[in-house]
Amino acid sequence: MTQYMRNNMHKKVVDLIQEGIWSIQQELQQLFQSFSLPYIGGGQDKLFWTGTLNGKFSTSSAITMIRHKEPKMHCSTKIWNSCLHPSTSSNIWKIVQGVFIDDSVMVDRDYSLASRCCICENEQDSMNHLLRHCSFSVKIWIWICSIFGFSLPVTFDDIWTRARNCSPLIRETWITAACSVIKELWFQKNERLFEDIKPNEKQFKSKIKKMILEGGYRMKSNKWNQNYDLQIINFLILVQRAPGFGVVVRDHTSQVLGILSGSIGIGTNYIAQVYGVGKVPWLIDMRWRKATSKIASIIYMHSFRETNFSADSAAKRGSTLAAGERHIIMGRPSFLTRIELP
Ligand SMILES: [Zn+2]
Repeated sequence: MTQYMRNNMHKKVVDLIQEGIWSIQQELQQLFQSFSLPYIGGGQDKLFWTGTLNGKFSTSSAITMIRHKEPKMHCSTKIWNSCLHPSTSSNIWKIVQGVFIDDSVMVDRDYSLASRCCICENEQDSMNHLLRHCSFSVKIWIWICSIFGFSLPVTFDDIWTRARNCSPLIRETWITAACSVIKELWFQKNERLFEDIKPNEKQFKSKIKKMILEGGYRMKSNKWNQNYDLQIINFLILVQRAPGFGVVVRDHTSQVLGILSGSIGIGTNYIAQVYGVGKVPWLIDMRWRKATSKIASIIYMHSFRETNFSADSAAKRGSTLAAGERHIIMGRPSFLTRIELP
């Protein structure tokens, strides 16, 4: 601030106007050079609020003018994508937003520590190293990229754009695969640190394949009928899923006697649905009569499968079987972790 300004702090606009035209003092001229000064009209002075186009004050426009604006995240819509499981989305979001602690953050906060990546036990630990440069991560990226025929992604943007020219289904599959890899690479570090689980490439890969397979239930897009699509789908077993069914047999004390899970062809999906409401279609009438002849009583209780956890998990197992395949387990299987009481 110049001495002139300091001495004239209380100058008003009217002091810069003489006989209806702008009259800028020499000392201020340099300041006004880059402005185009407004045209001076006649009449009474009017008060305008410059925060809105109509010149009227509103609280919301005042807040808009003073509020702190974060830069717009261009990848937010990509991360919060319906094809990704919310737990994957939320963890990718945390990484993108920098909501994590690694050794480089600790060093920045003046902690003195000997930092070492717990996965490769070679380099200094950081999220950047863990996700991109760690020898374990590089092997996983090479593997997943070779399935899709892509070059290794360097930035998050690369992940969103790699499958740009592929079919919608392959795009969703790739995003699910890449995001699952990122999330699991991060979580693996915690498993190593807190549960002492050693990194295992084979197990990691099958976990990713499982996540992609489960992600397949969320994917709604179409594939293109070309070799490239079919090869990837075959490799990742993203087969057109046959509907599955699950039956949990329990006695009068609610103990689980056994479960049956199976997969049915699309044509018989109709039958599964009518079984659910207790009406038997004519084409299986005889078989049904024979099957039920030795049972004294059957009580049908219909509930949505999503609230019937045990039958739902049995049915989910069924849908991963090949069409027509059945699995019968006597007693309560380990995957039925939750049994609801009637
Ligand atoms: Zn490492």
